[in-house]
Amino acid sequence: MQVIKLFKELLGTQSLTPDDGGLFDRFEKMLTDFTAIRIDRNGVKNLFLYKKFSEGDHLCFAGHVDVVPAGEGWDSDPFQAVEKDGYIYGRGAQDMKSGVAAFVQAVADAKDFNGTLSLLLTSDEEGPALDGTIAVLEYLKEHSMLPDFAVVAEPTCETQMGDAIKIGRRGSINATLTIQGKQGHAAYPAKVTNPVNLLAPQLVKIAGHLLDQGDDFFEPSQLVVTDIRGGMQVTNVTPNDVRIMFNVRNNTLTTIEDIQAYLADVLKDIPYELDIAQSSRSFRTNKESKIVKHMTAAIENICKITPKHSTAGGTSDARYLAQFEIDVVEFGVKNDTIHKVNERTTAQEVELLYKSFTKLISDFGKDR
Ligand SMILES: [Zn+2]
Repeated sequence: MQVIKLFKELLGTQSLTPDDGGLFDRFEKMLTDFTAIRIDRNGVKNLFLYKKFSEGDHLCFAGHVDVVPAGEGWDSDPFQAVEKDGYIYGRGAQDMKSGVAAFVQAVADAKDFNGTLSLLLTSDEEGPALDGTIAVLEYLKEHSMLPDFAVVAEPTCETQMGDAIKIGRRGSINATLTIQGKQGHAAYPAKVTNPVNLLAPQLVKIAGHLLDQGDDFFEPSQLVVTDIRGGMQVTNVTPNDVRIMFNVRNNTLTTIEDIQAYLADVLKDIPYELDIAQSSRSFRTNKESKIVKHMTAAIENICKITPKHSTAGGTSDARYLAQFEIDVVEFGVKNDTIHKVNERTTAQEVELLYKSFTKLISDFGKDR
């Protein structure tokens, strides 16, 4: 199959972040009837390819060609596609050269589409991801070219091909909370302001606190303390301050402002400082969205399984698409060897992925 040939070629191309390994030139040559826009920012290469077939919705396939370093201990060359024991091995086999090969081939093979088809490709997802997908979206917004719907082909399946798509992701918020006191001699507790004493009665309302109850799609957002420290590791001096570090993997019910307000209430009589920042935002695509319905139907048709609608896992570039109000889902092969040595997938999964995308493209104009 053509898609497997392409997939093996991608695996044989070394493309460590932020290097595209020449793949963008390759894709441009493959899709000659598509218009190409190259957006390079701070040494990161990005490619946007689009074609308007007719009036109608704009559907975009998005992904990254960069991979994480191979690491030590591979049984074969990580930058060669090696077939063994029914698997295809190589860095990026799951994350996410299988996804890129599947949608590039599916879009290249599309004879017709009810609207505009596009590809958004970056070489900076595994790195800081500050000049990748987001840079392309900013450009598209400026030129009124943002897609209506998007599929990110990150690996999403758990135990069987087609068993899960992602329709949202939790965000991540990091913070350092400092409780201010006044250092002094342990023998004169009345003359010091011990920050541990200030904090102690309130700590139970902070550590492990559930900021919401979760919903049908997300677990509750929990305040997870990762570090507490204060003092000088001696027994005769009380600490000047106590610092607590914490992380919240927040769902769409809790915002950074909610956390600030909660802590302001809990610590209302205590001098404190809060240094808090969002490293990625949460999102969830409506279950009734056309892209959720059509992706689900295409998987049922091709993989003979109904995918669950998951929001588990870390972050991906899907968050950026959601930020620009694009309805986005993620679907790709199984993800049990991502970032590991001997990363691998099967030809069957890549073929099913390609066929699912082909089915999505051909049915997207039809009502569901
Ligand atoms: Zn990835």
